Amino acid sequence: MASPLFPVFADLRGRDVLVVGGGTVAQRKAEALLEAGARVRLGAPSLNRPLARHVAEGRIEHLDGAFDAHWLDGAWLAIAATDDDAVNQAVAAAGEARRIWVNVVDDAQASSVQIPARIERGLLQVAISSGGGAPMLARHLREKLESELDESLGALAELLERERPRIRARFPDIGQRRRFFERLLAGPLPALLRQRRKLAAEREFSAALAGSNEAVSDTIRGSVALVGAGPGDPGLLTLRALRVLNEADVILHDRLVSKDVLQLVRRDALRIEVGKQAGNHHTTQQQIHALMLEHARAGKRVVRLKGGDPFVFGRGGEELEVLRADGIAFEVVPGITAALACAAYAGVPLTHRDHAQSVRLVTAHCKDSLDTLDWQSLALERQTLAVYMGVAGLDGLRDRLIAHGRAASTPFALIENGSRPEQRVVVGTLADLAERAREHDVQSPALLIIGEVAALAGTLHWFGEPPLGGTALALAA
Ligand code: SAH
Repeated sequence: MASPLFPVFADLRGRDVLVVGGGTVAQRKAEALLEAGARVRLGAPSLNRPLARHVAEGRIEHLDGAFDAHWLDGAWLAIAATDDDAVNQAVAAAGEARRIWVNVVDDAQASSVQIPARIERGLLQVAISSGGGAPMLARHLREKLESELDESLGALAELLERERPRIRARFPDIGQRRRFFERLLAGPLPALLRQRRKLAAEREFSAALAGSNEAVSDTIRGSVALVGAGPGDPGLLTLRALRVLNEADVILHDRLVSKDVLQLVRRDALRIEVGKQAGNHHTTQQQIHALMLEHARAGKRVVRLKGGDPFVFGRGGEELEVLRADGIAFEVVPGITAALACAAYAGVPLTHRDHAQSVRLVTAHCKDSLDTLDWQSLALERQTLAVYMGVAGLDGLRDRLIAHGRAASTPFALIENGSRPEQRVVVGTLADLAERAREHDVQSPALLIIGEVAALAGTLHWFGEPPLGGTALALAA
């Protein structure tokens, strides 16, 4: 069995490296080497345009012609990146004879050194190797890590590198230092960097450094991230949401958050469902506030996970006010709101040059809320209405819109469980909205789109089953 490779991060600053080849692969390698500060020599009978520019502008030295073993003179490392196997093998053999490390691109067998798949966050790098035997696996892992590691890690690495002398002077003992780092990284500093609050991050660092080890532990304050989970399809979660979820100690989630999304959450995080269902409020808003405060005060990283976007009919504003009054740090991660997701997954463009120049997000979850809406303006033409929480009041909605002048023939699309495997779309015209919904027994969560654009669901649908009642409409259109 092969032995695992020995990983090395090489300091190439000011050191000669030979690249053989003049095409895009050689170019990629040469540019990566330049970034690491190497002095690049490039050997090839002809160069692609970007390489020729590097040579013309003095960044790269060009060795013209066919490979010559003397090209290796004085090099610390060589990369063979031609599409001619014989040339690549010759470079490898010449390097071997001179004890110069050679990487042959895409040929682990011929290489004495391999270049790993890597994730870069400034000075921080994660390198992955499968020993050359399974590069696709390494690449797969790289993509996974790429999505999990926040960009702000680069800023963190930079800060720690800059402050290294101060940290060493303050905590000369390695054990002390380790405890300091553990506390520092578990505290608010990473989140401050993520929020691009540079000054606050530096203040936080200095305070932590000034405190004793005990005092530093006091700086572990809890925080709350208000995160939008999107409509259900876990693919619609943002990278930021995924990262925050991966760091969470406690997750307070709504019933609307899909099982598939919850599966992506860190396994050992405490999950509490604070679901609210129309007419059946499991947990009151006050209880949710109390739970957030309780866990954040205990120093936990709390994620308040909401369906869709937290600031669209999500009472996110109220929750932040409570946190603010209590001095608890918070951040907000937007999510894809139901109107956008349902429209996309039903093939309904919310605006359209010919039909709608504006979109309105409306909620109509009970009689009282119906009465407070401005029906005059909601009934205007050339706009799209996206109605949240509307399944219960469809008769009232139709009556009022028609009474205020919206045509009874205005198309609608009612999307139940948008973006989820069980998605259903019911289409029709405003006149028979309530009947259609009853006929198909549409249940919550469902989003209603009213406007000319809704008719396009008949032809532009692409996800799940075609709309119910859609074919007739498409033909009529
Ligand atoms: N903050 C959420 C909305 C919460 S209000 C967001 O931005 O999407 C709850 C209402 O959202 C539901 O009654 C329904 O009208 C709508 N909704 C949420 N998810 C949905 C989904 N997957 N499919 C259809 N409607 C959805």
